[in-house]
Amino acid sequence: MSTLYKWGAGRDPDHPVITDAYDEYLVTEDGEEIIDAAAGAAVVNLGHSPDGVDEVMAEQASRVGYTSTSYFTSPPVDSLSEKLAAMTPGSLNTTFLSNSGSEAVESAIKLARDYHVARGEPEREAVIGRWQGYHGATLGALSASGNTGRRTTYKPYLQDWPKIGPAYPYRWEYSGSPEEQAKAAAGELETLIKQEGPETVAAFIAEPVSGSSIPVAHPHPRYYQEVRRICDEYGVLFIADEVMVGFGRTGTMFASEHFDVVPDMLTLGKGMSAGFAPISATMIRDELLEPLEDAEHSFYHGHTFSGNPIATAVADHVVDRYTPELLANARARGEQLVDGLAPLRDSSIVGDIRQLGLMVGVEFVADPETGEAFDPDLGVYKQIFERAFEEGVYTYPGGGSVDGHRGDHLMLAPPLTLGEDVADEISRTVVNAVTDVER
Ligand code: PMP
Repeated sequence: MSTLYKWGAGRDPDHPVITDAYDEYLVTEDGEEIIDAAAGAAVVNLGHSPDGVDEVMAEQASRVGYTSTSYFTSPPVDSLSEKLAAMTPGSLNTTFLSNSGSEAVESAIKLARDYHVARGEPEREAVIGRWQGYHGATLGALSASGNTGRRTTYKPYLQDWPKIGPAYPYRWEYSGSPEEQAKAAAGELETLIKQEGPETVAAFIAEPVSGSSIPVAHPHPRYYQEVRRICDEYGVLFIADEVMVGFGRTGTMFASEHFDVVPDMLTLGKGMSAGFAPISATMIRDELLEPLEDAEHSFYHGHTFSGNPIATAVADHVVDRYTPELLANARARGEQLVDGLAPLRDSSIVGDIRQLGLMVGVEFVADPETGEAFDPDLGVYKQIFERAFEEGVYTYPGGGSVDGHRGDHLMLAPPLTLGEDVADEISRTVVNAVTDVER
């Protein structure tokens, strides 16, 4: 007998077997249809099995399926790089391809380090992150992540990089207007850089809009404008991790656009191939590469499958499908979803409902007045997830951590192609699931 080791299989060996999928639906081996209100893992932004992608894959596979990108290139690699440079803001014009979000982050971390070495500042090693941020499962990306749940077991192997608090207005204790609070929260970065010594800090990494750990927390734009100012002042690179929120998820092509800030590096993944191939990218500002050009040692990094012609052909096709109409649908359906969740505003277990584009986060608390979190042993988010799943709606598995201990959330991130009827069904099911668990 053979065993496939699955992520989370130890906790629940009876995961449903999916044999087919279309539009917003997953179909099990028993023919049961499940609404995928998580778009896989915020990946299948164009819905399941959209027309045309299979043909692109077959055509590319029939021509050339693999070349080593350490020496060769191929038409889809060149075309995709050009498109990404044109789509991303500012002078983020250089594309470095990898196969997963974690690898895109690792690439950004190593490139930041090489940049400082090339400029004669080899002591700049630390990558400041935020508590509850998530940037990937590999040891470098996890070191920069502050997701306490995922870090715990691996702590001895992680870099001891410092962190600031999350950009989480719901739990901020700063006073004043949203703008003043945002400025104060970003000020934590300046304090930490000064405390550590700017000469030791390579970069700051953040998800512009947070994903799985604290779904859809987004601060006033002043926050990232301050981050940009602070990074510039202290020579620290700013890495925006848009692996989850890039490609239309928040209603704009990239989430950084909400804050009018251009990072030094931007990491992309998930929606880049809409789920048809493992591919990710690190977009790099032109200015960063200048010192590396003359450096003796520069960015000796890459993976065997990076820039695979089939994966790049898929992404080259998929990125063209993030049209203004699709983004408009994402915004409209996001608003519809959150309107449908309105009955939860009076729920005795709902603390906060957040939405940006087609990304909705609901936070469950023991006391909405004080924001006191539930005892993690109650597994409130799990009960709600399971209740919704019994009714045929798969939500993004929540949990995550609040202030260092597990908190209770649910995230909705359905395909950006979501239809009105399905949007109604999702909110109705979530409202019923929460109401059932509240009783
Ligand atoms: N960064 C962010 C913001 C993510 O949400 C994720 C995945 N959830 C990653 C990085 C890691 O991506 P991957 O799982 O493809 O390695």
